[in-house]
Amino acid sequence: MNPDLQTNKRIVILGGGTAGWITANAMVDSWADKGFDITLIESPEIGTVGVGEGSTPRLKLFFDALSVQESDWMPKCNATYKNGISFANWSTRPGFERYFHPFATQIDRHTLTAFYFNTYARRQGVDLHAHPDRFFLSAKLAEKRQGPKPNENFPFVVEYGYHFDAHLVGEYLKERAKGLNVKHVQARVLDVNQTPDGDIASLLTDAGDTIEADFFVDCSGFRGTLLQQTLQVPFRFFAENLFNDSAVVLPTDQVADIGSETVSTAMKYGWAWEIPLTHRIGNGYVYCSSFCSADEAETELRTALGLLGSDTEARHLKMKVGRVEQHWHKNCLAVGLSQGFIEPLEATALNLVCNTVYDFIETVEAEGFAGRGRESFNERTNQGFEKVRDYIVAHYIMNTRDDTDYWRQNGENKMVSDPLRQILQIWKTGKNLNEEMERLQIPSSYSAMSWYCLLAGYGFYPDIRPMPADNPAASQFNMTKIDEFIRRCSMNFRSQNEQLRF
Ligand SMILES: Cc1cc2nc3c(=O)[nH]c(=O)nc-3n(C[C@H](O)[C@H](O)[C@H](O)COP(=O)(O)OP(=O)(O)OC[C@H]3O[C@@H](n4cnc5c(N)ncnc54)[C@H](O)[C@@H]3O)c2cc1C
Repeated sequence: MNPDLQTNKRIVILGGGTAGWITANAMVDSWADKGFDITLIESPEIGTVGVGEGSTPRLKLFFDALSVQESDWMPKCNATYKNGISFANWSTRPGFERYFHPFATQIDRHTLTAFYFNTYARRQGVDLHAHPDRFFLSAKLAEKRQGPKPNENFPFVVEYGYHFDAHLVGEYLKERAKGLNVKHVQARVLDVNQTPDGDIASLLTDAGDTIEADFFVDCSGFRGTLLQQTLQVPFRFFAENLFNDSAVVLPTDQVADIGSETVSTAMKYGWAWEIPLTHRIGNGYVYCSSFCSADEAETELRTALGLLGSDTEARHLKMKVGRVEQHWHKNCLAVGLSQGFIEPLEATALNLVCNTVYDFIETVEAEGFAGRGRESFNERTNQGFEKVRDYIVAHYIMNTRDDTDYWRQNGENKMVSDPLRQILQIWKTGKNLNEEMERLQIPSSYSAMSWYCLLAGYGFYPDIRPMPADNPAASQFNMTKIDEFIRRCSMNFRSQNEQLRF
């Protein structure tokens, strides 16, 4: 064991949002045998951001690692199962106005070849069915409002995420961490004391206490109290290719038949999410304040939801999109909104939180707290942010709307990273995306399948070319058989409503 881990450490986490409590749980579990003293400080007065209701399958891995059962946490957090995300009205190409980005299932192995073949042929101009949805079981489950948990006789693994009430997940994780001896201090940090060499020494609270520690985790949200404000680590904004900086949030009543997907619908100056929880639907409009005012955004969202005359109150939020230059600096690690944020189009924030925390734990276990693994950790975490950003930017580059300057400027934006430029080029030139991404070692957090779904889902294809009637490509895969295969597989899944009866 690294000698640095043999001495008792005092760790203070500043912030009790989802990031703070995920960090506390991950650390207390991973270091249960080390006798570390972990304290979390949060200010009820400041509160949490209170949004963040969708996840990727990474959250399931997190709960599995803690041995937390779905039957325990899901009902307490009004949580539902999520098969993936539908993107509606981003593309105006006929037949491609909507597509589904599925979470992976083992069943995909049986249909991916056909999907890849058809998209390959379609990119050469052959008239074949090349929209992703018919090839994926998760898309069918979402369409039929079925949950992702198969009946016992279905021997294939299905990945899935969740929708949940962010506040309640925080509460759940808080109680769990407190039960494992994480100390909880409710106070506002007013000042930060530093050592002569610039490390953080202690935090001064409004209760007059000075809380010392050896290591600090900054989970203070967009404020970035410790890493950005005290240690002056610079923040890199992603505004050159992610324009959105604001959001407005409005809940609506849940319908009887609960859905099992997030829906992201393009609006005039951004997009709106629709997230089904057990007790309500979470809705929000993410937009760019240079193109529309908060009032205009609220009115557009209210109109879309049929809430124009309603007195349901809307919440307005500002978003700081980008990342810090170093996530771990001196004796401080930033996790969550304090380390950076990419707009929630693919619900990736908690994914990045989990990746950051567990990578940090592994790095410290191998190299200690003193900082030997710090540089490579920061490099990996930066890459993680940039790889997610590229996938989100691709949605904007692929959009074909021209109803507002917002969409035109997004579509024409040339500020794309080299990896994203390469991916788009490979697709456009009709090459094999899997092979080329591997050969050129293009960094991506997303699998080739996700890239195929995005590019095919937007209908990013050349015009169909006339082919001889007996063109062999046209009869290569029988879509009716694929439809039947997916339909039969889907019979092994019950409705979301039924799957939520624990
Ligand atoms: C519009 C929007 C939609 C989102 N949607 C998603 C989504 O679908 N999926 C997803 O994964 N993520 C989403 N996110 C991100 C998600 O909300 C956050 O990643 C997550 O909630 C973690 O937030 P946090 O804990 O870092 O910060 P916060 O929730 O802001 O918590 C900050 C904590 O720090 C405390 N604090 C701050 N300063 C002090 C101080 N001086 N003294 C004491 N305490 C202090 C506060 O009291 C609070 O407890 C979304 C974010 C936004 C803005």
